[in-house]
Amino acid sequence: MDKPAVADSALVSDDFRVVLVAPSHPGNIGGAARAMKTMGFSDLALVTPKRFPDPQAQWRAAAAVDVLDAARVYDDIDEAIADCGLVIGTSARQRRMPLATTTATALPAWLSEKGLGGKPAAILFGREDNGLSNEELRRCNLHVVIESHPAYPSLNLAMAVQIVCYELHKMLVAAPLVPEWDRPPASAAQLAGFYAHLEKVLTDVGFQDEHSPKQTMARLQRLFGRVGADETEVAMLRGVLKQIERALGEDLRRSSNLE
Ligand code: SAH
Repeated sequence: MDKPAVADSALVSDDFRVVLVAPSHPGNIGGAARAMKTMGFSDLALVTPKRFPDPQAQWRAAAAVDVLDAARVYDDIDEAIADCGLVIGTSARQRRMPLATTTATALPAWLSEKGLGGKPAAILFGREDNGLSNEELRRCNLHVVIESHPAYPSLNLAMAVQIVCYELHKMLVAAPLVPEWDRPPASAAQLAGFYAHLEKVLTDVGFQDEHSPKQTMARLQRLFGRVGADETEVAMLRGVLKQIERALGEDLRRSSNLE
């Protein structure tokens, strides 16, 4: 009998979205789709793939062409993760401004403690030639490193997807993730709106100099990403910013009345 071991589509988890950022080889996209399906995942997002759709992707996907066919293509990483809560970045390299980091092996323990809060988590994978940029990693709450040999730590893209999905699969089989927080996490889109607003107000009050930003925003994004702000907290912070804008407006009006 040639039946797949897991025939029940109800066992497919939509808790996690695999996001391939600018993959250049269609074979790796197919390989990633197969890696996902073997571990019970089907939510695949592609950001500016160089070649897709492509027969090589189909060929490498084997019996996971359904995952490939359902993959969504985006022009922009922010669109691909807009509705996600947790954003996890994978990279073999530690960065100059490090994020909170864990290993692929320890990822399930980290997630079990945090929960997902009812929004899908995005897992970002980078380009074959130079991975994820620091600017892209800024969106991440957590940096995951797959343990590998220091002499050559960089895995093939589809194999990296396989290992992370394998760890997540084992975790979900052992125990489903339960939301433990009283509010849902802020989505990536809500956070992006907050960061843009914060940057504007910091510039208005003269804290942030438009011409020499000195990584202020990158560091603040890292702070909020590490905390994992929820929807209510972000709405409150937006309210604070609006109030500052109002007060600034009144101040300006008052000083122009004095002149
Ligand atoms: N030369 C690139 C490596 C790209 S490998 C670099 O220096 O960053 C393609 C992608 O696979 C990476 O962006 C990352 O998402 C994933 N990957 C490969 N090896 C990894 C590792 N050891 N740990 C975590 N992710 C890894």
